[in-house]
Amino acid sequence: MTYTLHAAHLYGDLMNTYGDIGNILAMGYYAKAVNATIDVDLVSLDDPFDPDKYDFVLFGGGQDYEQSIVSKDLQTKKAPLTRYIEDGGPFLAICGGFQMLGHYYIGANGEKIAGIGALDHYTLSQDNNRFIGNITIKNAETGQTYYGFENHNGMTFLGDGERPLGDVLQGHGNNGKDGSEGVIYKNTFGSYFHGPILARNEALAKRILKIALNRKYPDADFSALDQLTEDLTKNVDVKA
Ligand code: GLN
Repeated sequence: MTYTLHAAHLYGDLMNTYGDIGNILAMGYYAKAVNATIDVDLVSLDDPFDPDKYDFVLFGGGQDYEQSIVSKDLQTKKAPLTRYIEDGGPFLAICGGFQMLGHYYIGANGEKIAGIGALDHYTLSQDNNRFIGNITIKNAETGQTYYGFENHNGMTFLGDGERPLGDVLQGHGNNGKDGSEGVIYKNTFGSYFHGPILARNEALAKRILKIALNRKYPDADFSALDQLTEDLTKNVDVKA
């Protein structure tokens, strides 16, 4: 039996800071071990987003200028993206993408860039400062530690129904004040981590991959992923 996941890379031609698409490639490494492949569609300006087609969505980071362009187009996809998220579709949103799933982002020049409010957070800007550097967090639910690199102006504050992806052990996180980093809402994961996060954090990659596989193939057994210890990066053939 082989399995196929369909992934959407939202605005991957405009928002893909530090190669955020590597998150899909990392998931592809692990998917291969359970005979699964991941096909990727670029879904960008003027493209429709079909919530019934996709098993995983990646929305990467970007610069303020690109975010302001994406912001306008994103409003046309607000309803299907919100439905996908509410239905429990697996979603990974990084940095600028994470900001834009919330209500708004105040850019470095003070401009208000609208998000879609699918999640309840909002993002303010810092005066002449960015949070840059290595970051380490601990996920409260699993006790797992995640490693990454952050580079953002925005300070994000979580809202209703949102819990952090982790508690900051080193670095700044969502806003440098409340010790939170990222978000989990249903099966949507948001984070400021580049790296990319799933390439550096095997446990999180497997966790999100399993959510996607189990959601699409509820009768199949993907527990082999938990036993997996070999380094799959040595032997891969991922199409993206
Ligand atoms: N432009 C946003 C900020 O500076 C997002 C940055 C990013 O995606 N790396 O906060």
